[in-house]
Amino acid sequence: MTHLLHRAIHAKLPVAVRGEGVRLFDAEGRAYIDASGGAAVSCLGHAHPDVLAALHAQLDRMAYAHTGFFTTEAAERLADRLVADAPDGLDHVYLVSGGSEAIEAALKMARQYFVEKGEPQRRHIIARRQSYHGNTLGALAAGGNEWRRAQFRPLLVETHHIDPCFAYRLQQSGESDADYAARAAGQLEAKILELGADQVIAFVAETVVGATAGAVPPVADYLKRVRAICDKYGVLLILDEVMCGMGRTGTLHACEQDGVVPDLMTIAKGLGGGYQPVGAVLLSSAIFQAFAEGSGFFQHGHTYMAHPMAAAAGLAVQEIIRRDGLLQNVVTMGDYLETCLVERLGNHHHVGDIRGRGLFRAIELVADRAVKFPFDPGLKLNGRIKKEAMARGLMVYPMGGTIDGQRGDHVLLAPPFILTREDVDQIVERLGDAVDAAIASLSRAAG
Ligand code: PMP
Repeated sequence: MTHLLHRAIHAKLPVAVRGEGVRLFDAEGRAYIDASGGAAVSCLGHAHPDVLAALHAQLDRMAYAHTGFFTTEAAERLADRLVADAPDGLDHVYLVSGGSEAIEAALKMARQYFVEKGEPQRRHIIARRQSYHGNTLGALAAGGNEWRRAQFRPLLVETHHIDPCFAYRLQQSGESDADYAARAAGQLEAKILELGADQVIAFVAETVVGATAGAVPPVADYLKRVRAICDKYGVLLILDEVMCGMGRTGTLHACEQDGVVPDLMTIAKGLGGGYQPVGAVLLSSAIFQAFAEGSGFFQHGHTYMAHPMAAAAGLAVQEIIRRDGLLQNVVTMGDYLETCLVERLGNHHHVGDIRGRGLFRAIELVADRAVKFPFDPGLKLNGRIKKEAMARGLMVYPMGGTIDGQRGDHVLLAPPFILTREDVDQIVERLGDAVDAAIASLSRAAG
């Protein structure tokens, strides 16, 4: 009998024993092409020799030093690297162990900023439906994935949700992008006014939505409008780039493509590429100054924050991405991936949308393309696609998002940045076959 909860619940999961480049291998010797980077994590692929060397070197010197006593060279160098590459204005870094921790820290930083500034009455966070910000209670409260929140709702702090900017689902037919951007961002202004402009702390949103809706980029100008509305009412803008950031969309930060700089940005996943658990908050000098001139510290902390091994992993991964010019490959392979997806699945009866940026792409499955009606969630189509894909040696990230109150199905692709055209061909061929097989299994189940 296994004592590992994960195994006890998911008895049939293969045991991963080795990774190499874009592939993982299980204990039976089967190879899986990692087309999802796990959960959009493994941006450099597996067992990259230069990352391993950097980790060995750090481990030989020192594995751990608590931030209450010391700072470390690894953490300082990573912070310098991140600020050197960050949009202007984001000039301090708070290092943590993952995405949920980064969101928790960002929310608390936003609140403490207003306390320091003498506006302690500000207490509301506005976020969006169909978003995911993590599984800890604060992050879950901010997130808008009803399926994940439902049973924990009594424990969640009150957060206010508006619609996401989701063109496929929410843009009206005949509505221009500009009109839709204005309408979607207008919801934020209306919510701020409803709550009281001097009562709102921050608006938090994923720049490109990941796990809950599947690689949904905003339409042009949406985030610029959001930024202007936040500025108008003195509300902080937190962009969650835990999944879509650190090169995944073809620019280091996804918001560069939207011409917007947030006050706080969360990053994780691709920051350390899975070599160590690491996340971070990038914060504006105004927020830093408020802490420095106020109480003198940020009232927060975790035992493993700024862990030297995590910082060494993040630094190595980020330096290799720069050194090897991998963002260019994200753009080139991202475009090729989109072309192949459109070729193989663009006319598929049950593929309603193909979307995303860079190597952050998704397909959305629908029962009826004409009216975009989702499959019955009870059929668990996304789980079936995952099963068929794994049987074909392909890792994809299937999820059911909440669409108009119902769960819809999408499949997210987030492969490593070192991907080749041959890898893309193999991914799309296997994905196409897995989708067909999963849909065929629905009619067998019905019959
Ligand atoms: N924010 C976003 C946008 C995410 O996609 C995730 C993880 N899927 C998180 C936060 C939480 O990160 P973690 O799982 O590392 O806590």
